[in-house]
Amino acid sequence: MQTRTGRCLCGHVSYVLKSEPRAVAICHCTHCQKQSGSLFSFNLVVREADYEQSGETKVYVDKGDSGRPVYRHFCEKCGSGILAKTALAPGKVVVKGGTLDNLDGLQPNSEIYTDHAAQWLVPVAGAARFPQNY
Ligand SMILES: [Zn+2]
Repeated sequence: MQTRTGRCLCGHVSYVLKSEPRAVAICHCTHCQKQSGSLFSFNLVVREADYEQSGETKVYVDKGDSGRPVYRHFCEKCGSGILAKTALAPGKVVVKGGTLDNLDGLQPNSEIYTDHAAQWLVPVAGAARFPQNY
């Protein structure tokens, strides 16, 4: 079993993934765009029990399409987005893949909220596309 490690920009928050992600998805939604300051998130869906964090995160309570809360965790010192937890997916965390130390072998299975994707972005080969959520 491969473990992966990641950290925020300043290193205050770091984590270990003790299992490979269940899903790897690019999300083009406007909330991911705003939070990251970029155009999409590279999201890893991981079992919460397999996610081990060092260093405290702050939480911004966002609201998803469903109206249910989305808990967005970020480093209080440097602002890096680390993960999100949603009421809709209990027991799972959605890790912001851009914080990984190594991206080897990780390929997106899907792209979601492609309705909001920048028009000049080329679709990812082999990834299913969804205009909204799954
Ligand atoms: Zn930090």
